[in-house]
Amino acid sequence: MTNNQSNPAVFRFAPSPNGQLHLGHAYSALLNQKMARQADGKLLLRIEDIDLARCSTSLEKQMLDDLNWLGFEWDEKPIRQSERLHAYELALTALKNAGLVYPAFMSRGEIKRFVVEKQKQGIQWPYDPDGAPHYPPQDRLLDDKAKAAYLAEGCPHALRLNMKAALDLISQPMDWLETGAGWNEENGGVAADPGQWGDIVLSGKETPASYHLASVVDDAFSGITHVVRGRDLFWATSVHRLLQQLLGYQAPKYHHHDLVLDDAGQKLSKSNRDTSLAELRASGVTPNQIREMIGL
Ligand code: GLU
Repeated sequence: MTNNQSNPAVFRFAPSPNGQLHLGHAYSALLNQKMARQADGKLLLRIEDIDLARCSTSLEKQMLDDLNWLGFEWDEKPIRQSERLHAYELALTALKNAGLVYPAFMSRGEIKRFVVEKQKQGIQWPYDPDGAPHYPPQDRLLDDKAKAAYLAEGCPHALRLNMKAALDLISQPMDWLETGAGWNEENGGVAADPGQWGDIVLSGKETPASYHLASVVDDAFSGITHVVRGRDLFWATSVHRLLQQLLGYQAPKYHHHDLVLDDAGQKLSKSNRDTSLAELRASGVTPNQIREMIGL
């Protein structure tokens, strides 16, 4: 998987400073490092701090300290999503201009009540791969006058992608090259199925750009050629492929890796201090021991 000098492979590790880094993050970062070295490519750091309510500068500092301690060096100055809001705004404008974005006014509670009502009527309401119900169609169907009136009243809203209109615009099927494995061992050419997500959020009430939008814009901006990340984001790749297609970006290759599990077989969480790198460090574990613990 080597690349020539004029077209180096570019990898990235993209953690969110909304909790402490744990062994799962160490695995992802070290696997990126290993694959970047094998490809004679670059390794970049992107700080995904767009969710301002959950991310903090002290967590970011701790995160950078942990990565430093593990021995990471980045080939370019790290980028911080909170400093790139203009780029997400431009992408959002392009999608708006294509007629693919609408304001969505329903709160979580309202969506829930809508779905319960549908289920009472015996209608099977679709859920996305993360287990959230698809957004009801009402707001997508609002006429311009009603929409303008709600907006003029200052009703809180998110901006969502009109999935059906987006899929209608892209006539050819979309796929990606998977060099790791999906939940059902998918590998090689994988067909994207963004429709299973419904009308995704592009910009939230509190976050100026959703994870999907910001990460796709940034991967393109940094010229990322290889996305190496946990299998928990395997299904999200369908949405990423759609956004890349709509925004005219190249698709990177994807490698979804195993998740590091705890003794009970559960995915590690940022709130569990036992496996946090800070805690392991404080108990005298060395970076080499971390590598051994995760088999890298
Ligand atoms: N920021 C995401 C996370 O910490 C990773 C996003 C990605 O690799 O695309 O889970």
